[in-house]
Amino acid sequence: MIAEETQSRLKQLQEAFLAENAKLNLSAFRTSEACWTGNILDSLAALETEPLRALSPSPNPNPNPSPRILDLGTGGGFPLLPLAVCLPQCSFVGMDSVRKKVAAVQRIIDAVKIPNVSLVCGRSETLAREGAHREQYDVILVRALAELNVLLELAAPLVKVGGHILCWKSLKIEQELKDSLLARSELSCQMEKPYEYDLGGTWGRRQILLFRKRAKTNAKYPREVGEPKKNPLL
Ligand code: SAH
Repeated sequence: MIAEETQSRLKQLQEAFLAENAKLNLSAFRTSEACWTGNILDSLAALETEPLRALSPSPNPNPNPSPRILDLGTGGGFPLLPLAVCLPQCSFVGMDSVRKKVAAVQRIIDAVKIPNVSLVCGRSETLAREGAHREQYDVILVRALAELNVLLELAAPLVKVGGHILCWKSLKIEQELKDSLLARSELSCQMEKPYEYDLGGTWGRRQILLFRKRAKTNAKYPREVGEPKKNPLL
């Protein structure tokens, strides 16, 4: 159940996104209905996963420093923006290498006034070598970025030991899972029980894969810009 006030902010977000999407090609979901289900509800599915459920507002008046969540390859701002609206106590960062997408997401943030998000423009292979980003995040979100073996090499260096990587995927990915075995062991990412959900209608069932990072990432990862994709761990 989404509270009424949150629902109205999410509708504002949808309108601001659709206005940007009409100017730039950010997403294939161009109607309100497609954007609501395919982008907003699909992003919010993560609220039901264990790592994000654990971040629900705390009754403690002096909570620990706010959890840090990174959306790697945020594109037009999904899953970043709907989750930032629903988890105001967390601090979100959206990362993308394409400057015009980052600029469009910033305009959406300004229009809807989402205070708990900042954006960084650059390649994750480079940013993951900087102290401001390496092993700095409690949770990394990854939707529609790359195959598992590639995305784990990009995401693992950014997450804290004990933190989680959440990957939005379709259900039939047996081969992709097999092809990720070496990456999982090299990067100490242990798979936990995936979260399955149904968006209804023709959207159907999907899943969010969960990986927990068990140890510090070897300094050799990620490899140079472009290398994880060109020559994936296999
Ligand atoms: N997460 C969004 C966008 C997916 S498209 C969604 O689900 O709708 C993938 C995005 O990742 C693109 O915008 C691309 O520019 C960005 N990207 C790909 N590789 C990247 C890298 N190594 N570092 C930063 N951004 C990257």
